[in-house]
Amino acid sequence: MTDEAVDVWVYLQHGKAGLTKDSLELLAAGRKVADKLGQRVVGIILGHKIEELAEKAVHHGADGVLLVDELAFETYFNLEYIDAVYSLVAARKPYVFLFSANEVGKDLAARIAYRVPTGLATDTVQLEVEDWSNPVLGQFKNLLIQVRPDFGTRLAKIYTPRHRPQMATVRPGSFLPLPEDLGRKGKVEKVEIKEGSYPAKVTEVVELPSPVPDLAGADVVISLGLGILRDRTGRPRDPREAYQYAEKLKAAVEDRYHLRAEIGATRALIYADVKALEGLISEENQVGQTGTTVRPRVYFAIGISGALQHRVGMQNSSKIVAINTDPQAPIFKIAHYPIVGDLYEELPKLVSAIGGDGRAN
Ligand SMILES: Cc1cc2nc3c(=O)[nH]c(=O)nc-3n(C[C@H](O)[C@H](O)[C@H](O)COP(=O)(O)OP(=O)(O)OC[C@H]3O[C@@H](n4cnc5c(N)ncnc54)[C@H](O)[C@@H]3O)c2cc1C
Repeated sequence: MTDEAVDVWVYLQHGKAGLTKDSLELLAAGRKVADKLGQRVVGIILGHKIEELAEKAVHHGADGVLLVDELAFETYFNLEYIDAVYSLVAARKPYVFLFSANEVGKDLAARIAYRVPTGLATDTVQLEVEDWSNPVLGQFKNLLIQVRPDFGTRLAKIYTPRHRPQMATVRPGSFLPLPEDLGRKGKVEKVEIKEGSYPAKVTEVVELPSPVPDLAGADVVISLGLGILRDRTGRPRDPREAYQYAEKLKAAVEDRYHLRAEIGATRALIYADVKALEGLISEENQVGQTGTTVRPRVYFAIGISGALQHRVGMQNSSKIVAINTDPQAPIFKIAHYPIVGDLYEELPKLVSAIGGDGRAN
């Protein structure tokens, strides 16, 4: 599958409230790639009684939609969905196919890539289009460049030069949804897919409560790093003090600005297994490559160095406020409001400045 492949496909998920936030972000990712390629964005939507979602997808950036609207697809069942989506790929040969790097996206994308067969770049945070040449493989025009953090401290660029579609899962939070444009027009095509026969079937879907804390949905994220363990002289501090200030900052933001705030943390702080933080900070608070990707209106990085694996999970925040004793800390390269100083001195001032209680308990 190479030469004849065309179009940038995005797999769109939906829930009771319509297309999910991840799907709207994926449409923006697809739009960026398609515009660079001069191709169309095609949304793939499976489900039952979902016709209005096609129009929504068009308003958010799709040029076309392939709609599989059948009772058999009312609830997600991976075996059936994989067969259906694979049959579309085999018949129509997209150039690029993007999925959200969430539970369903990862489930589908890996199995479809295996069946095609083609490569799959997982957890990408950026997508570009470039020409690429290699002395052994040759020259390739307009390849999808799939950018993701690697296991060390670098970003990896992944190419799929010889197989189509070029497939990637995109980390939620990496792209901003496009504003809704009610005047946009697109071609919606209904596709019939026959119900398959499978040894299992889904009888009930139970929705779990959203994760606590809901970092990805927060307007403001206040994250703590290893710096909370000591003051600037190196003297050990009780990290619960910093945590309490973070809670006061959260309360002040919520009371004064009516924004939803959550407390995040670096992996280093979580893995340090600090007894005093038990029950306060756990893996659910982790922001970064192996935690949650966030894109809040304001991100507070408190006592955080700004290692690449942390940055990729928060660098798209609209505004970044960083407090660090080290003026050379990498976090300052991306901070809009750098505060060089001891968090135990600066954090109380910050809390007071936005109307909270900046006194120690
Ligand atoms: C495969 C892999 C995946 C990873 N995934 C993640 C991930 O998802 N999320 C993540 O966060 N990390 C992740 N990491 C770890 C990452 O590489 C860093 O080790 C980690 O982010 C560092 O955390 P930190 O900033 O809290 O600690 P440090 O790097 O130790 O930084 C502490 C900072 O606090 C400052 N400081 C010290 N005292 C004070 C004070 N009193 N006041 C103000 N500032 C002070 C210091 O100057 C320093 O800059 C991953 C690593 C690998 C290898």
